[in-house]
Amino acid sequence: MLYLSTRGHPDRKHFCEILLEGLAPDGGLYLPERYPQVDAATLARWREVFNDAAAGGYAALAFEILSLYIDDIPAADLKALCDKTYTEAVYGTAAIVPLKQLDDGFYLEALSNGPTLAFKDMAMQLLGHLFEYELARRGEELNILGATSGDTGSAAEYAMRGKKGVRVFMLSPHGRMSPFQQAQMFSLMDENIHNIAIEGVFDDCQDIVKNVSNDLAFKRQYKIGTVNSINWARLLAQVVYYFAGYFQATANDAQQVSFTVPSGNFGNVCAGHVARMMGLPIRQLVVATNENDVLDEFFRTGTYRVRASADTHETSSPSMDISKASNFERFVFDLLGRDGERTKALFGAGLSEQGRFDLGGDPAFADAAARFGFVSGKSTHADRLKTIKVTDDRFAVVIDTHTADGVKVAREVWNGQEPMIVLETALPIKFAQTIVEALGHEPDRPAQFEGIEALPKRVQVMPADTAAVQRYVMAHCA
Ligand SMILES: *Cc1c(COP(=O)(O)O)cnc(C)c1O
Repeated sequence: MLYLSTRGHPDRKHFCEILLEGLAPDGGLYLPERYPQVDAATLARWREVFNDAAAGGYAALAFEILSLYIDDIPAADLKALCDKTYTEAVYGTAAIVPLKQLDDGFYLEALSNGPTLAFKDMAMQLLGHLFEYELARRGEELNILGATSGDTGSAAEYAMRGKKGVRVFMLSPHGRMSPFQQAQMFSLMDENIHNIAIEGVFDDCQDIVKNVSNDLAFKRQYKIGTVNSINWARLLAQVVYYFAGYFQATANDAQQVSFTVPSGNFGNVCAGHVARMMGLPIRQLVVATNENDVLDEFFRTGTYRVRASADTHETSSPSMDISKASNFERFVFDLLGRDGERTKALFGAGLSEQGRFDLGGDPAFADAAARFGFVSGKSTHADRLKTIKVTDDRFAVVIDTHTADGVKVAREVWNGQEPMIVLETALPIKFAQTIVEALGHEPDRPAQFEGIEALPKRVQVMPADTAAVQRYVMAHCA
């Protein structure tokens, strides 16, 4: 399997070549040259593999799917990496991603039982093992520099802690993350994890990461890399739980299901798109946004409009507060019949200059819902509060704010026929303040997180100064 760029660059690459990279050289995103097709016999075999714990369950299913996309890691090694990643010890259950039924045929798929209680662990934990493996094979090291306002940073740190050949330098806005999120990150004592609290806002942190990445000499000398959501390996890891959700909600492979996905950067739901393109019987892929409705606007009208900072809302589902959806280009490439020139024209200079494009009048957009199954909806703060309350009252299940956006939109779209699976993207304890607002009491806290706010913290506070951050990296990567 070879990978191409969505912007038409002629080069083709193997999986491990793009594993440690971000964008393709032409600014595009990597996608496989084609989507492997899963026939009926294979789907039936995978169902058995997944359902049979002795055959390996989720880890074995992950190996089957990853094998179709990775041809430059020996099978035995890839199997070992999957087995190491998807364990009951890490995810708390043997099922790894169990379904919880609300109404008859309406489910939550639990993706948030990993170390940081958000779905990003599902992919990031695998990435940690893949990075360690590939760096050892090459005899190289990597210094991951990132900016976070919460979920991504902690998932990256918990995935990379103690991994050989990798260091993490994670910038976060000083004093602006919730006490729980700060405690999660800053209580890590691993030598290879560096928390840097920047005196500024999240955008200042992101600007510093950009500045450092643009300093090509520094980047090369200090082997700076990233783990952001456009990484293909992260997306690929997420494809697995669409299959796992399907097998749990259906009794045989003649049935269809729909998924609703709380969305920000379009990473999670793009994995659903890949699963559907492989032939998984998904009827609809429902994109649920919060007040930052870039994606909902596109799927309703065909207009993709990047929001200015002043137009980007701070909401109570903060991990979906985006001004543009960085993985969206992958879907548009497929929508346009994989036309790299057109994708480049839309997402390259055109988007930087006009901040928008419009496919509303394009025949490709007109039958997009029918061909690709996409539907969308949006949810507001008031919707979240109400959905959290109603879900608790009716089912005694407390959901987090992002999952609430999904449940709200799923209820509007669901036809009550085929099963609807809403992806649960975080546990409520991460967003306790809004849960208190909705329910009048704190959500449950998993036992391993009792008292984490009181643990010693390891964090370096710094001014919003690129040179200071570079000096810190230089001093700590020998
Ligand atoms: C990152 C995140 C999302 C959004 O996922 P995308 O892949 O960016 O669409 C939704 N919910 C939670 C809790 C997240 O951490």
